[in-house]
Amino acid sequence: MTPHNLPGQPHLAYRDGELFLESARLSALAQAHGTPLFAYSKAAMLAALAAYQRGFAGRRVQICYAMKANPALGVIELFARAGCGFDIVSGGDMDRVLAAGGTPDKIIFSGVGKTRAEMRRALQAGIGCFNVESEAELDVLSEVATALGLRAPVSIRVNPNVDPKTHPYISTGLKGNKFGIAHERVLPTYLHAAGLSGIRVVGIDCHIGSQITQTEPYLDAMDRMLDLVEAIEAEGIPIHHIDFGGGLGIDYNGDTPPDAGQLWALLLAKLDERGFGQRQLMIEPGRSLVGNAGVCVTEVLYLKPGEQKNFCIVDAAMNDLPRPAMYQAYHQIVPLQPRDEEPEVWEVVGPICESGDWLGHDRNLAPRQGDLLAVLSAGAYCMSMASNYNSRGRAPEVLVDGGQTHLIRRRETIGEQMQQEQLVGG
Ligand SMILES: *Cc1c(COP(=O)(O)O)cnc(C)c1O
Repeated sequence: MTPHNLPGQPHLAYRDGELFLESARLSALAQAHGTPLFAYSKAAMLAALAAYQRGFAGRRVQICYAMKANPALGVIELFARAGCGFDIVSGGDMDRVLAAGGTPDKIIFSGVGKTRAEMRRALQAGIGCFNVESEAELDVLSEVATALGLRAPVSIRVNPNVDPKTHPYISTGLKGNKFGIAHERVLPTYLHAAGLSGIRVVGIDCHIGSQITQTEPYLDAMDRMLDLVEAIEAEGIPIHHIDFGGGLGIDYNGDTPPDAGQLWALLLAKLDERGFGQRQLMIEPGRSLVGNAGVCVTEVLYLKPGEQKNFCIVDAAMNDLPRPAMYQAYHQIVPLQPRDEEPEVWEVVGPICESGDWLGHDRNLAPRQGDLLAVLSAGAYCMSMASNYNSRGRAPEVLVDGGQTHLIRRRETIGEQMQQEQLVGG
């Protein structure tokens, strides 16, 4: 077989009848670490970051990796070394960034439910910005900061009420979503913030959703944000930075999101046109930096052909890869060692006791027991959402760097799972 790449997956290729991630033979990684196994390409992550960096060449921008997409320490470390800041959504996220060598002043803290304890710790660590999501949160943050003798750097997350045209569970910038402060309440909230002793206004932000594949929702949100910046600054409150969130989609199955560079060329043209070209900018990409850098390697445990459906039972499940069960998401599934056989239609399912435990419907495959399959585009929102359902240990993760591979997380043992628990006895 001649070497060939998979569409949308420049770091994956078949060579000599075998699937490689960069220079790593995936079957060899499976043999060394067992399955299910996540493998990530460092080059793919850096290439995705470079697309943003090119788009912003010559501008003042801070790219903050939205680490909830993939919070592995080895992944955070890679982005920290490449100059990224981080968008966090919990105190635990902050600890991960600091443990992986990220600097506090490049951390922005998003999320609708920050606790007082999380606020206190983030203030003491000296994070760059709190993205505040409600008027009630603003008052609590001011109180917590005042008690510490500090002022919290704050940006108000705007809900611009634009439709990102994505799955309802991952759209966040519509009026009916729980995120951000409604457009019409934004100016009053800034006026209130400006009078609070524990608050220092530094920016404005929005994040309208995830897996966005069109440019208009971004352009519309940008216009609404800039209208607000003009109104807020007219009241004498300077806005130092404008943060456009994340959300850019990736190609899971022939999706055609704009390239990060192209998208930002359009957005920057609009900023220039409206006189904001020199403003400090921030963005919070997650999925688009890591999603297509990762695969999940899984073994075919059993084949169960049937009258209505053929089931291909693999050793990865919804606890490892929750996106199909959670959002009916599509992930390509390909063999590590393709056979020259007529494919049939298979339901690819995991071992978990739930009918929702499927990885792919109606897939054309020619599997045999013991074969290895790769679930593609598994770098984002897979391991980060993994659970221990059915007492399954979470899978190991490997970072591939050219010809080198680093085990960045080993497989979780049942002992580790039971460690926090105790028998009642008696
Ligand atoms: C999840 C999230 C992001 C990243 O979204 P992606 O779709 O992964 O790019 C950015 N900002 C905030 C506030 C988020 O919640």
